[in-house]
Amino acid sequence: METPELSFTLAYWVFCLCFVFTPNEFRSAGLTVQNLFSSWLGSEDMGFVQYHIRRSSVTLLVHSALPLGYYLGMCLAAPEHHMEHILEVSTYSVSMALQSQCQVSMVHSRQHHMSPDSASPTQILTLKVDSTNRSMSPFHIRLNSIEYSELRDKLHSPVQNLTNVVIYQSVSELFLDTFRAQVQDNPMYSLPRGQELEPCIGCMLVAANVKLLQLCQSQDSDSDSDCQRCQCRPMWCVSCMGRWFASRQNQQRPETWLSSKVPCPTCRANFCVLDVCVVRSSS
Ligand SMILES: [Zn+2]
Ligand SMILES: [Zn+2]
Ligand SMILES: [Zn+2]
Repeated sequence: METPELSFTLAYWVFCLCFVFTPNEFRSAGLTVQNLFSSWLGSEDMGFVQYHIRRSSVTLLVHSALPLGYYLGMCLAAPEHHMEHILEVSTYSVSMALQSQCQVSMVHSRQHHMSPDSASPTQILTLKVDSTNRSMSPFHIRLNSIEYSELRDKLHSPVQNLTNVVIYQSVSELFLDTFRAQVQDNPMYSLPRGQELEPCIGCMLVAANVKLLQLCQSQDSDSDSDCQRCQCRPMWCVSCMGRWFASRQNQQRPETWLSSKVPCPTCRANFCVLDVCVVRSSS
């Protein structure tokens, strides 16, 4: 152990022992739980039982937080120290593993589409940290996929992704999923007999499969929609149309994306997500 870490560790544990067993010097300096939380504890004479219930709970809380106080102190005393660990802090527990002794693997992913309850689409990833040190039990980390690259950059070894979880690292990528799901719920468009579907002009990889129809007005007849009629034949696939839709949005306000309107990439007629229809070819 490096010198600053050793000095900090010794000083910290002497402080902790004195704080828990409170010698007279600590009492006279006012370094006791009773003194530090006196305003919240109230008066012992006025409410004896209440005072002691509060005193014992706050003492338990403060004493159990001492190891975490230690860890934060170590990060300040030796900044490189915290890069060596993977730390997971939840309300009631702290799990820690030394990077050189562990393997991180992707185990699960859950997606939340954009909805009235969640302003922006999210993907929550669950990673498992297994330590080769038998005294450390494995633990899980849950994080938003947008924060994933930041975590990966700090890890010394790659994350195993045996379940092939697809990680969406931007709001636009996540939005595409919400867009596709909405389009699937919209009415379909039947391609007139004899008309062929051409490759999507955005990616040239798949056949065009969406058509813009001004449908939102009929669904919401009270409101004045400023969507316009698009006369274009199907030219785009749903993914390219979704990317176009996302690219025309205010990137800082994803909560507005689903309700906004953008111009058709070809004729510039405004459309909304309710106007994008999957093409059904007549065979
Ligand atoms: Zn395409
Ligand atoms: Zn158009
Ligand atoms: Zn519309």
